[in-house]
Amino acid sequence: MKGVMPSDIREKMKLLDRAEIIHLGGGLPDPAIFPYEPLSDASARLWADRARAQTALQYAPSEGYLPLREWIAGYMTRQGTACEADNVIITNGSQQGLDFLAKLLLSPGDKALVEIPSFIGALRAFDAYEPQYLGLPEDSADWNPTDLAGAKFCYVGPDFRNPTGTCMSRKDRLALLDLADDTGMAIIEDGCYEQLRYEGEDIASVAALAAERYGSIERSPVLHTGTFSKTIAPSLRVGWIAGPRDVIRRLVLIKQASDLATSALNQMLLLDVVRDHLDTSTRIARSVYRDRCRSMLDAMEEFMPHGVSWTRPQGGLYVWAELPDGIDGAALAARALLERSVSIISGSAFYPANATNIVPKPNTFRLSFSMIPAAAAREGIERLGGLIREG
Ligand code: PMP
Repeated sequence: MKGVMPSDIREKMKLLDRAEIIHLGGGLPDPAIFPYEPLSDASARLWADRARAQTALQYAPSEGYLPLREWIAGYMTRQGTACEADNVIITNGSQQGLDFLAKLLLSPGDKALVEIPSFIGALRAFDAYEPQYLGLPEDSADWNPTDLAGAKFCYVGPDFRNPTGTCMSRKDRLALLDLADDTGMAIIEDGCYEQLRYEGEDIASVAALAAERYGSIERSPVLHTGTFSKTIAPSLRVGWIAGPRDVIRRLVLIKQASDLATSALNQMLLLDVVRDHLDTSTRIARSVYRDRCRSMLDAMEEFMPHGVSWTRPQGGLYVWAELPDGIDGAALAARALLERSVSIISGSAFYPANATNIVPKPNTFRLSFSMIPAAAAREGIERLGGLIREG
């Protein structure tokens, strides 16, 4: 644990309860999208049926509640990754899935390949297993199997990455499979935001492309993590890993040793809700976040000074901005909070600590539009733009 750094975001949340602060940093889902009535109805149905209530209050199997695993296998199959319940383990959110995969795949000193920048929660989960990080070069033309040989896995978030909001092209997803073929590494595909596309065409997941290439999930190098946190509600803590069944069997042993099982109650409520309401709930989330994304990007156009550039996401919850060289994202974040009551997250938080082939960009920061109505986005970005302009 000596090597595990505190998460900048979790630390900052402690300072953020001043009412005047505009939170442009954290990416919590907007509570307005949570499906209150469907959850309340599912709950009433469950308590009215003594046999189901008993199951809900009992220990669940470590691999997860079978009808939910079957539902997820059907969902994965519809997304292009044909699989069965035995290819799915339920985890306590996809965060736990990332921890388990690192526990399974890494010994201290092993190489782990990660996108740069990467989701901070994944890096913190991996840190505990003491990997030697390697950065996945941005341009796939530079994915040289000799340079990247020996990595146990490559961690990617191909759809609307946290923190940049960008996607991996279909061509690069296929190139990643080539790289896995050449190096023998696994691919951890984080599917957290795959349902949150607001514009443009869906791109097949790496898991789906692998299933197509190898003819079966059993021969696929991809371990796909999924979650209901962004489409239903994060507090239920229900996510999953889908992959070849011999890998899932080992993950079940890790789950048993870690927390025995995910709450049966939460899995049963969730299944009842997703069966009938996932489409509606996802549609509501998309429509709320699509508008918020536009408002934030419009405000950026209006108020960001010359020399600042930023991503224009087609989905997800995040915008990544780059400042002119010499302006430090961490210093800006500190001043923005103190002097303008605006919270942003410094880009440096999203780089792994000991990577040998990575030069972190300190002149970056992450914004999230998930909780920010249009007027607040305008106000917050105007304040931030003013501060950057002042220098
Ligand atoms: N992956 C990514 C990319 C995330 O941004 C998050 C949370 N914001 C998670 C995984 C974890 O989500 P959960 O544990 O709620 O499924």
